[in-house]
Amino acid sequence: MFEEFAEATAEKTKELLKENFFVEKLYGSNWGQILKMTKVLYEGKSKFQKIIIFENPIFGKVLALDDVLQTSENDEFIYHEMLTHTPILAHGNVKKVLIIGGGDGGMLREALRHKSIERAVMVEIDGDVVEACKKHMPNLPKNAYEDPRAEVIIGDGIDYVKNTDEKFDVIIVDSTDPIGPGMILFTKEFYSYCKNALNNDGIIVTQNGVPFSQADELVQTYKNRKCYFKDNRFYIAPVFGYVGGFMAFGWATDNEKAIDVSLEKLKNDLSNIEGVMRYYTPEVHKSSFCLPMYIQNKLKL
Ligand code: SAM
Repeated sequence: MFEEFAEATAEKTKELLKENFFVEKLYGSNWGQILKMTKVLYEGKSKFQKIIIFENPIFGKVLALDDVLQTSENDEFIYHEMLTHTPILAHGNVKKVLIIGGGDGGMLREALRHKSIERAVMVEIDGDVVEACKKHMPNLPKNAYEDPRAEVIIGDGIDYVKNTDEKFDVIIVDSTDPIGPGMILFTKEFYSYCKNALNNDGIIVTQNGVPFSQADELVQTYKNRKCYFKDNRFYIAPVFGYVGGFMAFGWATDNEKAIDVSLEKLKNDLSNIEGVMRYYTPEVHKSSFCLPMYIQNKLKL
């Protein structure tokens, strides 16, 4: 029923305002957002999901999969900087990074800014997302795919971590929400394979939803990682295109020193990164692990 409502809303609005709208469907009819589409750059259906890339006056170019906003040109820096620099700088000696998902290319681009990184593997299930973003959102991958350190594998992330005998220093799970192909990336089974694919002092970080409206995902993934990692927590940042306030990033590792990396070391190691930051600072890194009470209360298990 909600599909029809959303389609009707978009149609009626289009008729009245003579403009095209994207109606987000993540929360069904409970809550959502609509974004004016001043231009549709790509629209298609892969064997996994609906893909649309459109232009919006506030967010710039926007990618949505199965009518859920994934990333936009104008706010992607927050999400990609926090999910790469936080674990890589906390670890302090990252040579190999594994990205699960990340089809828009932003995570790969951001990780490769670290000169210390010798190899970055990105395992994305949907090649159509990679190609559509390469063509229509080139500012996300920029020249990441031409970087000799990068390897892009089109496949299911769980198959990769299950079968690889390679060990990584950081694993970044840059997936869709736990619906459709993304669901498996939030399970105990997946985290157990990730544990095996990490070096002893390795860190896994995850896209972990918006605690205000996706608390179940927060709690369940916390429980699912707790069995395998000594240090298991979240850090936060506001990603403007994700309705509901702070977004949570999962953090799990046996490297219990990583969380206590000093501000001085973070400031010093910033010099090993190409280019400039637009969100991440060492102070933001440290403070992002301070959770407001409404999130702490959801984790009182
Ligand atoms: N920033 C976004 C967010 O927070 O929701 C995620 C961006 S990225 C587009 C998410 C990617 O995860 C998609 O390209 C999707 O195809 C990919 N994905 C979903 N399930 C996957 C799986 N099982 N293995 C690998 N990639 C997967």
